[in-house]
Amino acid sequence: MKIFKKQSVLLTVLLFCLHFAFGQTGEIKIKFIGNCGLYMTDGNLNIYVDFPYKSGAHHYMKYNKSEIDSIKDNSIFIFTHRHSDHYSRKLIRNPKGNIYGPWRVSKKRKLDLEKLNNSINEFSLQSFKTSHIFSLHHSSYLITWHNKKIFISGDTGDVGPISKIKNMDWVFGPFWIYSNAMQQKKPIDSKMIGIFHLYPDQKIGEGFPGNIHFFTQQNEVISIPF
Ligand SMILES: [Zn+2]
Repeated sequence: MKIFKKQSVLLTVLLFCLHFAFGQTGEIKIKFIGNCGLYMTDGNLNIYVDFPYKSGAHHYMKYNKSEIDSIKDNSIFIFTHRHSDHYSRKLIRNPKGNIYGPWRVSKKRKLDLEKLNNSINEFSLQSFKTSHIFSLHHSSYLITWHNKKIFISGDTGDVGPISKIKNMDWVFGPFWIYSNAMQQKKPIDSKMIGIFHLYPDQKIGEGFPGNIHFFTQQNEVISIPF
């Protein structure tokens, strides 16, 4: 009986520690779906970036249909532009949730940015007009969430807005924003730089700094503790 009691005390201590290590608050989880597609959550708010897109469009990454089925209700969908490797008009019809993009989103689903920024504590979304070939409307975004700065470049190589933001935590961008920043001597001020929008069989060179991460593995989850 005594041993039993000791064990249950140990178990309680263990559960207590687990609660702090894996509790609902304390981290922003970001799943890389494919191309520039991300799913982000802090356990409360659910955000999709450049997803759903058309699987396999322009020979870029395909994904499982289960990704569409598992989209959380009342999510926020943020798009950088409407090219099919970033956006699917057909697939966005079904999941519930508001949409934010640089084009004229229908009133019924348009996300009210001001309302969102004022209603959710420790969250703000800022939009920047950036350029992208064959697209009249392209935006990049800065998400400030639990005091962490997450920059979404989308498909642009335009270093204008990103070069003015200091002390970011994670940047998600294509290789061309990184190479442009290097060439123009406007280094990206971020703890981590995630390079996405790679082809499924893309070969990655060597010799990159330690804070450069290449998203070659779909469904990889990164964590930003806060
Ligand atoms: Zn693209």
